[in-house]
Amino acid sequence: MKVFFSVYHLTPSSAPNAATSLKPRQGALLRFEWVNGKTGYADLHPWPEFGDAPLFDQLQLLKELKLTPLTEQSIWLAKRDAAARSKGESLFVPGVQLKNNYLIENPLAVMPEQLDQLADRGFSTLKIKCGRDLEEEAKLIQKIALRRDFRMRLDFNGVGTATIFEKFMKGLGRETTALIEYVEDPFPYEKEEWREARALARLALDFQNSKVSWNKEERPACDVVIVKPARMDVEKTVEAALHWAIRISVSSSMDHPVGVAHALCVALDLKKKHDLHVLEAGCMTTRLYQMDAFATAMPHQGPYFIKFNGTGVGFDSLLERAAWKPLADL
Ligand code: MG
Repeated sequence: MKVFFSVYHLTPSSAPNAATSLKPRQGALLRFEWVNGKTGYADLHPWPEFGDAPLFDQLQLLKELKLTPLTEQSIWLAKRDAAARSKGESLFVPGVQLKNNYLIENPLAVMPEQLDQLADRGFSTLKIKCGRDLEEEAKLIQKIALRRDFRMRLDFNGVGTATIFEKFMKGLGRETTALIEYVEDPFPYEKEEWREARALARLALDFQNSKVSWNKEERPACDVVIVKPARMDVEKTVEAALHWAIRISVSSSMDHPVGVAHALCVALDLKKKHDLHVLEAGCMTTRLYQMDAFATAMPHQGPYFIKFNGTGVGFDSLLERAAWKPLADL
């Protein structure tokens, strides 16, 4: 197997009051060439702030064929891409209706007109990042609930505690919590505490997923699992989730459009196979960064992606033109 890489930077689109997130994010596209003549592409986009090894450590380890959870997934996804590409087929599954939630990174900057526009465009689920200013966030969540046209997903990224979470949810009131579809990573995963907290809201495992072993012996204390194809073994997680009647929402890793397209294609595939077990996806994340040729090549209409051109995950000519370096030369 020959591996090539192409380093890229994603520049966050301007987000008021979020100065810390305006630094460009680094990742690499990967091209795998197998001895059977097949070629497949994937993304590698580590989040060191969530404990991933930095990009060049990941690349060095890959060169030594020591896989990390991320590079293991890059290879799995590149193989899917190669299989489709070699047959001249797209990985996009046509005819599957799967909406994406709209991600609100900075709830304190939301304007009422923006919500009107999102409703007009057909979005029905808002995913709200919480934990920066709980009081203001609670006000916004209550305001959105009064409109009654959106369901909400809250994401605390595991920063709270069980006590803070309980106080927050009780403070929202029943009318509001009825419109909360689930809460992602309300605080660090601890089975008993999560079990108790499920009385306050349906809970979803995202980054806390690493603390759960997905098997058929023990049911994880959650209602939903966020499946990120860039970060975790999709087949193993989905099989166990179905076994325990835990719902699935497929999400991008807020990565390069190549990673986003991979997540989307996995999401469409799972939706086709397991219909009602698969909730709205969280793949519409390319707008978090300044538009580039790759992002432009992923058309969407409201909450739906439209079939993109090309084979595999698409981007055929863009991927050909990228500046590739042999991993062996690193
Ligand atoms: Mg999350």
